[in-house]
Amino acid sequence: MGVSTRLKQEAADNGMFQLDQIRAPPRVVTVPVGPGENGKALYIHGQDTRQAAEQLHNLYGYSVLVSDVISLDRKIPDQRDTLCLQEDYPDDLPQVSVVMIFYNEALSVVLRSVHSVMNQSPPHLIREILLVDDFSDKPDLAFPLESHISTNTKLRDKVKILRNTKREGLIRSRLKGVQQAQGPAVVFLDSHIECTPGWLEPLLARIRDNNSTVACPVIDQIDTKTFAYEQPNYLAGGFSWDLTFIWINVNKEEMARRKSAIDPLRCPVMAGGLFAIYKDYFQHIGAYDPAMEIYGGENVEMSFRVWQCGGRIETVLCSHVGHIERTAKPYLSFRSDDTKDIDIEVNKVRAAEVWMDQYKRYLYGRKPYLKNISYGDISERQALRKRLGCKSFQWYLENVYPDRLEQTVESGFYRAWGELRNVQTGLCLDHIDGQGVGLWDCHGHGGPQL
Ligand code: UDP
Ligand code: MN
Repeated sequence: MGVSTRLKQEAADNGMFQLDQIRAPPRVVTVPVGPGENGKALYIHGQDTRQAAEQLHNLYGYSVLVSDVISLDRKIPDQRDTLCLQEDYPDDLPQVSVVMIFYNEALSVVLRSVHSVMNQSPPHLIREILLVDDFSDKPDLAFPLESHISTNTKLRDKVKILRNTKREGLIRSRLKGVQQAQGPAVVFLDSHIECTPGWLEPLLARIRDNNSTVACPVIDQIDTKTFAYEQPNYLAGGFSWDLTFIWINVNKEEMARRKSAIDPLRCPVMAGGLFAIYKDYFQHIGAYDPAMEIYGGENVEMSFRVWQCGGRIETVLCSHVGHIERTAKPYLSFRSDDTKDIDIEVNKVRAAEVWMDQYKRYLYGRKPYLKNISYGDISERQALRKRLGCKSFQWYLENVYPDRLEQTVESGFYRAWGELRNVQTGLCLDHIDGQGVGLWDCHGHGGPQL
């Protein structure tokens, strides 16, 4: 082996960039790194492969082919603001049970999520990782998942798989995970995430500082097509009047309240997939509404509840976790189009009926047909609200989410809110296909008739 080759080999063995000193002028020898390494994009070449990739992408909501060739241990560069590196975290941070639920995800995506938790967390802080399988029917997620974990010395002592015997949905699957959790703290994570250096300590420091805290990381984006790792445009969440989660800009008051650029941000509504909380506090504040089905609305409900009942929800800016925002949800597609949102809608109505007081009329104004759907028994949730002595929705709007309060009849922003129906003809004012305003059958779906 020549000197130059040997040096390059050494560089390769060290896995880093090194100066090649043999030739003048010196130049940087880049040692080939794995696909997608350092959070870089990976592109698929070749017509056939691209087509195959697209099919899988449609099925899973992300490119399984791309995920399958990227290392389960790929490195993601440190995403933190340099100010974060000067932070000192207490030695006695609480131990964590990570609860990660999944339904029909790609094996490599789930495994990369698990690996990244183990790779990026101080081992002594991870009590266990509880993987809850919500009755997936993908063979990959049965034996291959189990054998990967049981044969991996880093994983087998800490990772446990719990399996539902029927489909329970996100809410009851997480509840099942928490029941088994042994750590004083619980961190909920989706099963398509990647943790980055230092992600865990700032979350735990925040809940340790005040145990009625829900601490959320900054949710970075992992591209569904290339798995490129990118920072997001938004840091806090809110809701629109149909109770859909939306990303929001941080307002001036919140910016002024904070002393440093890395102070946690108050977050009116959390995205819901990724957060740290004390197990005791999670139970005390009413966990989740177990009558909620499949997916959605539970994050809005929990956000109202935590704020109204004396807690706080924050985005912790020194904690970064990447998340794949799927382009398709495999679990909604098994229904016909008419009913595919029905679970989410019931969840939203339950949230509105329990927490929103007179402001629930904005949900019904936006979606009048929801007035007539049956949403089951909410008496236990109402009793919870009473027992905890929670504040009104008005208080929440005034103190936590004034930007939403601004867009109400109460604030004078609207004169009225809802559909405008002619009682004689039964027709509604409608904004018809860009032709201006006319009369049309009332459809009760809000939209252009709102
Ligand atoms: N999930 C589940 N059962 C369901 C629906 C979702 O276990 O019925 C899991 C899913 O695999 C994911 C998490 O719940 O790990 C959150 O779902 P998703 O990522 O689709 O929600 P999003 O992040 O898009 O809001
Ligand atoms: Mn997700």
